Amino acid sequence: MTPLDGALWLIRHGFAAFPCDHPELNRCAGLHKTCDGSRGKHPAVAFTRGWTLDERRVYETFARGLRNPAVAVGACSGPDETRLVVVDSDRPGAIEDVASARGEQWPATMRVHTAKGYHDYLWAPAALHLGNGLGALQDQFDGDVRAGNAYVVGPGALHASGVLYELDDPERPPVMAPPWLLRALLTKPQRPVRQSYPRPESRSLQGLVKFVADSTQGQRNSRLFWAACRAAEAGVEDAPAVLLDAAVHAGLGEAEARSTIASAFRTVGVSA
Ligand SMILES: [Zn+2]
Repeated sequence: MTPLDGALWLIRHGFAAFPCDHPELNRCAGLHKTCDGSRGKHPAVAFTRGWTLDERRVYETFARGLRNPAVAVGACSGPDETRLVVVDSDRPGAIEDVASARGEQWPATMRVHTAKGYHDYLWAPAALHLGNGLGALQDQFDGDVRAGNAYVVGPGALHASGVLYELDDPERPPVMAPPWLLRALLTKPQRPVRQSYPRPESRSLQGLVKFVADSTQGQRNSRLFWAACRAAEAGVEDAPAVLLDAAVHAGLGEAEARSTIASAFRTVGVSA
């Protein structure tokens, strides 16, 4: 499949196409001022409005010179008020692993093989206004999700490594995104909560640590400050590190906890 073939396939199947740089050009055709060197991926037009579904324009653009075809993801509409979402696995099996970890099976859908893995194309309700966020899949998925104001390099494109972006099965259309995926993408990423905190040997520190670890939202910072002051006064070794763990366990952000502890130690006149 040549870039022209890929672009024609895209628009004939209703995917908004636009030209990107091609790695065999001497210089990047991207619109940017300075190129970061990832050749073959930089849009040659303002893709949010420079895309087309028109065959004549595709011939003009892709037959004239070397351009990789790409898809303006947010401009692609599917059946029943849906929009395109592309799940970009950085290795083969990445999204299947996420699915099976949740007791789910990844559906067979339109797939384009990339240099490292593949792009899976799916439809999602437009009303969800999906973006590029991974939601609950943050740190669980080796890849990215592209939706809304985003683009992906399409079939027929040449990667800088020499790999051709290829359709897995040109007859297979995108399916509806599974509900568990949509739920995960719409969930705010959770700050990792430490399951346990160290039990210090010092009796006085034990009480302070428990006091901090048991605190609920709204009292976490003041309890941490109070405990850190008492620890500083008592001169207990390792108190800052142990209290930090307890505060993070209680759900306080690490940076915030650090600064509260440091400020308590300064108040008491000891350096943390
Ligand atoms: Zn460039």
